Amino acid sequence: MNRFLQFKKTKKILIIFSLFTFLNACGRNAQNSSINPILSPPPNNTSILLPPSTLESCVSNDPNHQCIGLKIVSFQDSSRVSILQKADAQELVRGMNAIWKTCDVAFQLESFLSIDPTEKNLNYSPNWKTESGQVRAAFEEKDTFLIVSVGPWTNSTIAVTQMPGNGPHGVLVEKDYARNPLTVGHELGHYQGLLHLRDNTNLMSPYIGPNTAHLSQAQCSLARSTNFSNWPQMLRHP
Ligand SMILES: [Zn+2]
Repeated sequence: MNRFLQFKKTKKILIIFSLFTFLNACGRNAQNSSINPILSPPPNNTSILLPPSTLESCVSNDPNHQCIGLKIVSFQDSSRVSILQKADAQELVRGMNAIWKTCDVAFQLESFLSIDPTEKNLNYSPNWKTESGQVRAAFEEKDTFLIVSVGPWTNSTIAVTQMPGNGPHGVLVEKDYARNPLTVGHELGHYQGLLHLRDNTNLMSPYIGPNTAHLSQAQCSLARSTNFSNWPQMLRHP
C-alpha cells in the first residue's frame, strides 16, 4: 500500500511499504533534515577488514545477549570524498547499540569499506526503487548485516531496507542520515523483521525524530526471534 502523509510544517512525506517486495522505504522528516553532513577527507585505504584486536566486540557470555556482525560500506563521490570514515561508522554503531540495548541486542563493526561506486558500475546516488538490489548484491556477505551509505536522494526517501526473506539483503541510507543512529537503527529494526509502528516515541515510527528511540518488549521478542531463525550466521558467540 502507498500512503501520502502530511507532516507538520506542511512537508509531505512519502511512506511506501510493500508486503510484496519486502522492501521498506523510510521517509524524510523535518527534524532530521536539519542535520548537515560533515564531509570527510578522502580515505587512504579503500577497504578495511578490521582485525579482532580493533573490534569493539559485543560478544558476551550472557546466553540471552545477541551480538550481530556488521559490514558498513561508504560510497565516495566523484572527488573521492567518502560519506563516512571508519571512525564515523564506529560511532554510528555505538549510537545504535545504546538504542538496541533494551532488547539485549548489539552490533559490532567487522568490516568497513570506502569505495568509489563506479568501480562496481554503481551510481553514487542509486535509484532506491530500481538500483538498490544491485547495490546490496554488490556488497552483501553471508555472515554480516550490511549497511551502505549512498549519495543523496532527491525524493522523500532517506533509507531503504530489504526485509527478511528474499535477498539480496542490506540497508541503503542516504548521505545526510548515514551518521544518524536513530535512522540506521530503525533500518536495522526492519532487517530484524520489525514493521512501522504509528507511535512517535518508537524507533519504528515512520517519522524518525529526536524522541523515537523506544522499543517495546514485543518488538524485542520479534527481533530476537527473527535473528535466531533468519540470521543465525550473523550472531557472534564467545
Ligand atoms: Zn522504516
